[in-house]
Amino acid sequence: MRPQVIEKRGPWPVEPNVLDYARARDGFSWAAARAALDGLPHGRGLNIAHEAVDRHAAGPRAGRVALRFLGAEGERRELTYAALAEATSRFANALAGLGVRRGDRVFALLGRVPELYVAALGTLKLGAVFSPLFSAFGPEPVRARLALGLGKVLVTSAALYRKKVAPVRAELPSLAHVLLAGDDPGNVPGGRALGPLLEAASPRFEIPATAPADLALVHFTSGTTGRPKGAMHVHEAVVAHHATGRLALDLHDEDVFWCTADPGWVTGTSYGIVAPLSCGVTSIVDEAEFDAERWYRVLAEERITVWYTAPTAVRMLMKAGAALARGWDLSRLRFVASVGEPLNPEAVVWGQEALGRPIHDNWWQTETGGIMIGNLAALPVKPGSMGRPLPGVTAAIVRQGEDGRVAEVAEPGVEGELALRPGWPSMFRGYLGDEARYRACFADGWYLTGDLARRDADGYFWFVGRKDDVIKSAGHLIGPFEVESALLEHPAVAEAAAIGIPDPVALEVVKAFVALKPGFTASEALRLELVGFGRARLGRAVAPKEIAFLPTLPRTRSGKIMRRLLKARELGLPEGDTSTLEGGA
Ligand code: AMP
Repeated sequence: MRPQVIEKRGPWPVEPNVLDYARARDGFSWAAARAALDGLPHGRGLNIAHEAVDRHAAGPRAGRVALRFLGAEGERRELTYAALAEATSRFANALAGLGVRRGDRVFALLGRVPELYVAALGTLKLGAVFSPLFSAFGPEPVRARLALGLGKVLVTSAALYRKKVAPVRAELPSLAHVLLAGDDPGNVPGGRALGPLLEAASPRFEIPATAPADLALVHFTSGTTGRPKGAMHVHEAVVAHHATGRLALDLHDEDVFWCTADPGWVTGTSYGIVAPLSCGVTSIVDEAEFDAERWYRVLAEERITVWYTAPTAVRMLMKAGAALARGWDLSRLRFVASVGEPLNPEAVVWGQEALGRPIHDNWWQTETGGIMIGNLAALPVKPGSMGRPLPGVTAAIVRQGEDGRVAEVAEPGVEGELALRPGWPSMFRGYLGDEARYRACFADGWYLTGDLARRDADGYFWFVGRKDDVIKSAGHLIGPFEVESALLEHPAVAEAAAIGIPDPVALEVVKAFVALKPGFTASEALRLELVGFGRARLGRAVAPKEIAFLPTLPRTRSGKIMRRLLKARELGLPEGDTSTLEGGA
């Protein structure tokens, strides 16, 4: 039988950073967490890149490997903290030479290659704002985000540019510079090869005064309606990245850390770049896509001690079989954590069998910037639970009344919305250009997360579902509106609705329902054409995997598509309240 609780007992190979939960919470303050960082010299403020790179490069860790890149074809490249400091200074100088100023927006559309990491940290050094895009996005998501973020610089490769940016370039008037990583110089308007530009730039750069509240990062996320949301994060966020790296991921000075998330998403930036580097550890970056055997080899041969991955990846490893793990020496692995979607209880226990460690689920979202709730290294794990709020974080289950007032649900076991008390440093400071949407996330002193959850009598939180219609596929949030808008651009499509349908590995995949315009007839050929059209516009990360035709789509009397009804019908579930359905149920 599956254990309800996995207890932990010493002796510990390395003493965990949190041994006693209550004491850690009582003794914690964000001011003390801030004091664990350096700040810019001469009291000139706080800059993420200084904490992540320059302060280590100036001290005894200068010669330590900061980033070890494993290329898809087997090549390896290492950057020590000293080398990373130089490379990022070159990037900051190169940007300055192009006329890029503080607050300007620098986007990256790249795979997990060294240039991406250098660009992110070099941009932050200059005081410009960094925004990563997922390399599996198609032209439409790329256009929407660059346009909303007023991207001035894009760091990409010639191949990605041709496929994803060239088709929409004419719609991006603010994009002044395209910096091309790799050997292919391409033929890009306003394009420059990044390599020679960096070589010509000085390796020395003094980070200008940076206020903790200066904008640093914009991460795009999705809601049910409207365009993507650009969550704005500030330099002070590094206080939370550093503290949660120690508390939730149990990072210690000598660790070799591997975060498998792509830096195109918030996890890959907060925990693939900022947290491990601010803690001064060695971080492994693998350029290749998932492959069970390769991943075990990386864990064993790179002697990974702390591993942060995602439930979809764990399910894929489970599918490949625990026997595959047995061929590798994983004895260095001390702590394994996962985020982004519900982690099945079986997966937690499987970790113990296959990896020798249970998998520690934790919870956060783009808006929170860092881990808020987690199962910690030394504390009992309840398989299926997201864990407990970290020191410095106040979480609750709340209910919002018709009048908008929010009340905390005190009794354990009751479902409600997961809410957090604002005030942690990596908390988002707004949605780009959408103050109303930002304001709507707060009520009565709570930040409302949009997730439904329960808290048990021991204070562990359990994920129930989303309040809205966003789709979670392979750990990525997908806004149905973005999918529907792209399909509506096809001449045959009159209406479209996108929902998530269950998938054994990716949790959900996108399914779209379309109603055709008069004069068009549903056929297999048209269905395939629409699948291809969606894929070309949206890219594989967002496009619907399945498309079905319906004569009309169910709408409320006020005209809103009832995605929930489509989902209930698809899954054979009760249809719930259909009293607002146009034309009756
Ligand atoms: P994102 O902003 O893309 O990181 O997605 C955040 C959302 O992912 C959350 O609001 C949750 O719906 C979901 N999520 C993140 N972590 C977990 C987890 N540990 N368990 C269940 N859902 C999660």
